[in-house]
Amino acid sequence: MENTDIQYASEKLTQLSSEYHVEVIADWGVDSDGRWQKGNWSRDELDRLYRSVGLLAGIMKGRNQFIENLGGVTVKKEDIGPHGADAQAHLVRFNSKGSFSPWTVVHEFAHAWDANFGWKLSVALEKYTGGFTRPWLSWLKKLVGLSDTKFFRQENKPGRRGRKPGCNAAGYFYGDKPSGSNWRFNRLEDFAESVAMYVGWARSNDLSNWAEARVKRYLLENGASDKNFGTDYWTYYAKFFYPKGGDYTKTRRWKFVEELVKGRVKIA
Ligand SMILES: [Zn+2]
Repeated sequence: MENTDIQYASEKLTQLSSEYHVEVIADWGVDSDGRWQKGNWSRDELDRLYRSVGLLAGIMKGRNQFIENLGGVTVKKEDIGPHGADAQAHLVRFNSKGSFSPWTVVHEFAHAWDANFGWKLSVALEKYTGGFTRPWLSWLKKLVGLSDTKFFRQENKPGRRGRKPGCNAAGYFYGDKPSGSNWRFNRLEDFAESVAMYVGWARSNDLSNWAEARVKRYLLENGASDKNFGTDYWTYYAKFFYPKGGDYTKTRRWKFVEELVKGRVKIA
């Protein structure tokens, strides 16, 4: 944060706090020697955080619903190792070694939302979409050569990144059609991605281009290179991920999030 942006920054912090109960830990300011310390945040990032939180709140029944669902969230930017960001109940962290996208904000806040409900929202999603988590079945699938991975890890080449149902570290057999999957996919990631897809899909907001790109990549030829997603056997994977008529609202995931934000999903 630049010294000249201090007024703007404090306004954004106040808005985030009063409107959403989101508390950013400010790491900028004047130190004990009277020198300005920039910290890890930029003015743009604060703005992006505020806008993206607003998009997530926008799919809920207003700000109060957001505050109730998340129960207050502290946000930090610090060195968290190899990950871009992470989340738990009431805490979202972004890595100070880089910046973050609007998609990442919504994804991480979706984790915090799930966590605030004892991770039961992702269990409900798994059930609703007809998925299940069964590591032994995953091992069996790998054993008989039906997996698009090696036994204990993915390979970094097209068609071998562990995108098929159950072919991931968790043994997560996703039901219906998620917008993507990889070795780290499990029901928690599924929930966070499903929320981000719902926020972005066909709404002309900061997440919409990415949401569309995630679906459209499956129209590419096998072995084609996508500027965001690299090279893969897109046509081959289309049967797992490409929604009917390219319309993501036709997926069970879209319907699940719709039902969830309308208060029609019972959480056990
Ligand atoms: Zn995640």
